[in-house]
Amino acid sequence: MSKKVMVWGSYVADLTGKAPHLPRAGETVFGNWFKTGPGGKGSNQAVAAHRAGADVMLVTKLGKDTFGDHALDFYHENNISTDLILLDEDYDTGIALICVDENTGQNQILVVPGACTNFTAKDIETLRPKIVASDILLVQLEINLDALERVVKIGKQAGGMIVLNPAPARKISEELLSMVDIITPNEVEAEVLTGVSVFDEKSAQKAAEIFHANQVKTVVITMGKSGVFVSDGKKSKMVEARIVEAMDTTGAGDAFNGGFVTALAEGKDVFEAADFGNALASLSVQKFGTAPSMPFRQEIDNLFV
Ligand code: ADP
Repeated sequence: MSKKVMVWGSYVADLTGKAPHLPRAGETVFGNWFKTGPGGKGSNQAVAAHRAGADVMLVTKLGKDTFGDHALDFYHENNISTDLILLDEDYDTGIALICVDENTGQNQILVVPGACTNFTAKDIETLRPKIVASDILLVQLEINLDALERVVKIGKQAGGMIVLNPAPARKISEELLSMVDIITPNEVEAEVLTGVSVFDEKSAQKAAEIFHANQVKTVVITMGKSGVFVSDGKKSKMVEARIVEAMDTTGAGDAFNGGFVTALAEGKDVFEAADFGNALASLSVQKFGTAPSMPFRQEIDNLFV
């Protein structure tokens, strides 16, 4: 039987516009394409895990507004439980303003996590039994950090496995880091947390040693199309990415994390789980968008036949 996964994290509405160039300070640029979509690292990772077949519960917080309604509609359409989705009285639903340069593919992102920065002690106490009942707790850094520490402490004390995807890049307390079993930064996030510039296997190993010295048992550094570096403290290796024609790599890290925990929940070891995460991410980068681009289990299984 698959273990129970809880993802406690953010939902934001992605508001994406494309233009011939990115606006400079004070400049207004005429764009020619716009789309809204469901995003937020917590939500994206939960969607990836759900579609990959995990027994996953999402905890996030929305405002009582149109973007919040869109999120609920999306969860209903995707058969994702909204039982643990909180509504904030004061804050709006989070948003990400994403400007894309249609010539270079470069982007600028302004994220305002809104309601997801207002998880209260009362919210957490109400959900304590659900946290305690989870086997794997997957969290990111797109919510208020005081709440994150509380949630992780409850999960840890209950004997759960704590997986931290430390994104977006932010400094975190030593106490939080010491409770983490598996950390899954990308290269930039690994550098912010360790001070080591990560660009190849050797530098990833150096960063991993710093995480291990801070009591993190397993380090999984995602390195874009090079794949992931995995170190369990005894053994380390690069787990290669799949070679595909990438169309949109936004949310690749979310796809990886959702797949990675799904495989862990099924009893795979961290090296096998990284390979499963790579497979899932390789499918998602071939489609536009974040949550809607997450593949279903059958598509992932087809890569393993
Ligand atoms: P993030 O989106 O957090 O910056 P990465 O860019 O490291 O994360 O990508 C996460 C994972 O997605 C990689 O480890 C890899 O498995 C997959 N991935 C990303 N870009 C590509 C690509 N161009 N081709 C195939 N897989 C990719």
